[in-house]
Amino acid sequence: MVEGRYTWSDGRHVEVFDSTVVEIVTDSDLVGYGEVCPLGPFYLPAFAAGARAGIGEIAPYLIGQDPTALGPINLIMDTALLGHPYVKSALDMACWDLLGKSTRKPLCELLGGRHGESVELYRAISQRPAEEMAENVARYREEGYRKFQLKVGGDPLQDIARIRAASKVLQPGETLVADANTGWRVDDAARVVNAVSDVDVYIEQPCLSYDHCLATRRRTQLPFILDESIDSAEALLRAHGDLAMDVINLKISKVGGLTKARLVRDLCVELQIPMTIEDSWGGDIITAAIAHLAHSTPERYRFSSTDFNSYVSVRNASGAPQRRDGCMVAGLEPGLGIAPDFDSLGSPVAVYK
Ligand code: MG
Repeated sequence: MVEGRYTWSDGRHVEVFDSTVVEIVTDSDLVGYGEVCPLGPFYLPAFAAGARAGIGEIAPYLIGQDPTALGPINLIMDTALLGHPYVKSALDMACWDLLGKSTRKPLCELLGGRHGESVELYRAISQRPAEEMAENVARYREEGYRKFQLKVGGDPLQDIARIRAASKVLQPGETLVADANTGWRVDDAARVVNAVSDVDVYIEQPCLSYDHCLATRRRTQLPFILDESIDSAEALLRAHGDLAMDVINLKISKVGGLTKARLVRDLCVELQIPMTIEDSWGGDIITAAIAHLAHSTPERYRFSSTDFNSYVSVRNASGAPQRRDGCMVAGLEPGLGIAPDFDSLGSPVAVYK
């Protein structure tokens, strides 16, 4: 990781990310690629070795199937393994890559068509003392970002100081989010939202339980984002019915891959809910997938996205979007538009045929 360590709520942190890349080989000589990278084993109910074990459970059922038939592919995966959506994400992504290559279209065209010139990015500001985080906001502004997501979810008084310090250095037109990543107890969340009620800041996923998030939402006038709680279309519809948030954070692997992320995205567009479109973590392959999903989403409902390949120090593919002025652009090549870097990936850890 470029910064050395990425830290969020409750002192959770990761220094080295364990990513899994899937290659699907077909009898037409086309090859598709996908990636899944949990944010350590304690961010979502997902972990890197679990992704690989789960792929081993599902892979035998996919041999001989048409990878471009995304509906049947997802049905087979959901029948072979109940739950564990993140396990299916890299497989689904590789099938989408193959659909793009076989139709010679970039994924964003297959996912709905390209909207606008580029996709705006946010920068996550790793949890540190308040003044350091404010300095990092200024530093990442120099790299072109205009949206900043503070990692809070620690001690409520320190978090209030973090939000205040960062808001002081904010410039007109910039956006500030305080993401507690489930780290606050419901009473801590109440103290923080009360104490920063005069600040122009979004509050993201204050508590672990959906009900405690909803209680916090009902206590505050501040705009409100749900992330960890929105792990399926069903969760989205329930939260929408409760008016539980203004914005959601849609992560590809959290909902089980591009097929289901597209469904959630389309529901959000129809329900007029803005989204941060991203994943839990990743390298170049996931960054490319994010760019295609985000670029095929109407600009009005794009809150932000993430260029994970600028957070990590290892390249796993060429051809992925590169950030420019705080934005990225989905590629023009067929499929994901990436070519894996096998020197950095090494030999396969498992082969299914
Ligand atoms: Mg979040």
